[in-house]
Amino acid sequence: MNFDLNEEQLSVQKMVRDFVANEITPNAKQWDQEETFPMDLWRKMGDLGIIGTSIPEEYEGSGMDFISHAIVAEELGYGCSSMRGSYSVNISLVAKTILQWGTEEQKKKYVPGIALGEMFGCYGLTEPDSGSDAASMKSTAEKDGDYYILNGNKMWITHANLADVSIIFAKTDKDKGARGITAFLVDKGTPGFTPQPIHEKIGLRAQDTGEIVMENVRVHKDNMLGPEGKGFAVAMSALDNARFTVAAGCVGTAQAALDVAKQYAKERIQFGKPIAAHQLVQQLIANAAVDIEMGRLLVYRAGFLKNKGVRNTRETCMAKYFCGEMVNRVTYDMIQVLGGYGFSAEYPLERMYRDSRINTLYEGTSQIQQLIIGNNELGIPAFA
Ligand SMILES: Cc1cc2nc3c(=O)[nH]c(=O)nc-3n(C[C@H](O)[C@H](O)[C@H](O)COP(=O)(O)OP(=O)(O)OC[C@H]3O[C@@H](n4cnc5c(N)ncnc54)[C@H](O)[C@@H]3O)c2cc1C
Repeated sequence: MNFDLNEEQLSVQKMVRDFVANEITPNAKQWDQEETFPMDLWRKMGDLGIIGTSIPEEYEGSGMDFISHAIVAEELGYGCSSMRGSYSVNISLVAKTILQWGTEEQKKKYVPGIALGEMFGCYGLTEPDSGSDAASMKSTAEKDGDYYILNGNKMWITHANLADVSIIFAKTDKDKGARGITAFLVDKGTPGFTPQPIHEKIGLRAQDTGEIVMENVRVHKDNMLGPEGKGFAVAMSALDNARFTVAAGCVGTAQAALDVAKQYAKERIQFGKPIAAHQLVQQLIANAAVDIEMGRLLVYRAGFLKNKGVRNTRETCMAKYFCGEMVNRVTYDMIQVLGGYGFSAEYPLERMYRDSRINTLYEGTSQIQQLIIGNNELGIPAFA
């Protein structure tokens, strides 16, 4: 067993770490407060190959392995969770899913643009009345000659308003439950497809979130992603990739929170000495350090299996479950280290804390991760 990063992984880590320190961390507060996404910077990242990390070079990606992919997510999560989220959605939920299930024409049309930061994608699974129980979705896709007519509503969709292409899941057979779902690629501006922004979120304020109304949206059969009736499998495969990226991002945010708290603890004097010298403060720091290291190892373990191309749903869910909970514990405790100052926007911890809350909710809640892990341990097929 070798825990060392190889030369390529170390150089990716250094390049992205420097980029985040110079271009992202200093601006994350402003993007959060103004609810703006730095589109120009995103394009610059595309040019540097930081977005298309694990996308093959023939589709304008950098052809990196999954550990490098995780390193980039971790470093982005260190600076700004909204940017890490856009990396997760564009690459893990959308581009990789098109690569896995799409026709060559679909891959060529969408993947290079996303990898270069020139196009945005979104993934529309959740609806107002179906979240964890995705198979109970109400959106429909009725066949009409060479077209499908999509109707329904999608809720909480990251990049809904920005996306050039949306992966939309809808029922082609209402009586077949999960086996009646089909995935479609819907281009921006398709008549009847109307996204609306959602504001006033606790966190991820720099990131676009929206709902989508679909009224008689005509989509050509060539825009079907994967076979008819296999949409649920398409959706779950996308989540296997995205949960990995979320978990890695959580490690980065938790590390950033710990680093802020360590520096503060060495400088803040109470009872005549730095608070870092009080053992109960050290306990908070030590617990965070152990938590982060455990999360990182779970992420790397899942990445190791992904590199081998073997099934990794169990390990990816473990990483997502642990890291999603861990980053909430760590950011909460690091605010404790800062005392009242941690409660103020003068320090980045309050943003990190708000941004972290989503991680036990999206890409499958912590309870859903536990169900998948539990079913796996017991040999029960999940959501059969
Ligand atoms: C900011 C943000 C961005 C998002 N981005 C996207 C996106 O890009 N694409 C997309 O499709 N969705 C997206 N989502 C939706 C997200 O994936 C869902 O919110 C999530 O899956 C949970 O669904 P729900 O909100 O309907 O909660 P529900 O499913 O209603 O769950 C409510 C509670 O019940 C629990 N629960 C439900 N079923 C069970 C069970 N069987 N056993 C135990 N507990 C259970 C849940 O764990 C949770 O605690 C996003 C959400 C947010 C807030």
